[in-house]
Amino acid sequence: MEKIQMVDLKGQYNKIQNQIDSKILEVVKSTAYINGPEVHNFQKELEDYLGVKHVIPCANGTDALQVAMMGLGLQPGDEVITADFTFAATVEVIALLHLTPVLVDVDPINFNISIEAIKKAITPKTKAIVPVHLFGKAANMEAILEIAKEHNLYVIEDTAQAIGANYTYKDGSKQKVGTIGNVGTTSFFPSKNLGCYGDGGAIFTNDDELAHTLRGMVNHGMYERYYHDVVGVNSRLDSIQAAILRIKLQHLDEYNAVRLNAAIKYNAAFSNEENIITPSICENCDCHVFHQYTLQVKNVDRNDLHKHLLEKGIPNAIYYPVPLHSQKAYTDKRYQENDFKVTNQLVETVLSLPMHTELSNNQIEFITQTIINFINK
Ligand SMILES: *Cc1c(COP(=O)(O)O)cnc(C)c1O
Repeated sequence: MEKIQMVDLKGQYNKIQNQIDSKILEVVKSTAYINGPEVHNFQKELEDYLGVKHVIPCANGTDALQVAMMGLGLQPGDEVITADFTFAATVEVIALLHLTPVLVDVDPINFNISIEAIKKAITPKTKAIVPVHLFGKAANMEAILEIAKEHNLYVIEDTAQAIGANYTYKDGSKQKVGTIGNVGTTSFFPSKNLGCYGDGGAIFTNDDELAHTLRGMVNHGMYERYYHDVVGVNSRLDSIQAAILRIKLQHLDEYNAVRLNAAIKYNAAFSNEENIITPSICENCDCHVFHQYTLQVKNVDRNDLHKHLLEKGIPNAIYYPVPLHSQKAYTDKRYQENDFKVTNQLVETVLSLPMHTELSNNQIEFITQTIINFINK
């Protein structure tokens, strides 16, 4: 059995190496390193794939969130509601722009922002909600849009972990996550489901005016060369990364299907284990692209299991060990521990297992059997 990796970028690269290598060389020889045709073509291809009018490529997923909030014209003091259980980038940019982050609890089943908690957190200062489609699972967009409409709020979808996932409406129609709210953002960090070989990101919107604003903002606020209409940033996707992403975008659905398949196998292996709560997988599931496969364990010390697996050569990770409301940078007098029952529990019980496109059946069997043996010892 091959050594198990948490994320196997090498194995994935090996399968497309010829295409990637020749394309990189082509871009190098072209010297169109910034805003070249590769970036433009990638933008168009991603717009088609997502079914969205505008994709604005940028330098990373954190910038994408920041520029999205700048483009919407959010002002210092505006309150922005987001999930307590996510990667810090989401709350970081809110604070950086001197907006007021309002962290709220999440749902214990799908780990995404709790609808009840959003409702409780709304004040006259609330201006936006940032749902994060955590671990690849679509958040409950219909309920979020309804609240947003009622209170006249913007919805900014953090799709860094969920590119390619579909949200299914009650009437059965589907839409790609990131294209449902006013604006969506993603990251092409190498380990994401659509990862490049460095940093990269993008913003999505169906709003023509907002798209125009954002395109200038990522390029020093320039709409006409050397005329700076607004304060912007320097946040561009470079051509080599765009070229790599064009090749990998063609495989995204296949990559996400392979991840789902691995998740189905994990779930099957754990189906009789009372002390393991597995992620739920619906029929013909396309609302979850399994950026992470994350368990909750009961009646066993999660940290002991974490160490035991490492000793057995099974990489695994705790995403995330500290709720954001308890992080030094983001504490706030408004927070009451009682309002974070779910995140406070998740940080003690979650464990993410190896998840990537190259997992073999033998590896999955070894991982699941090792966990089952430990839990029942
Ligand atoms: C990775 C990630 C980001 C940030 O993306 P970068 O490209 O690393 O800046 C933002 N939000 C979430 C939920 C992420 O997982």
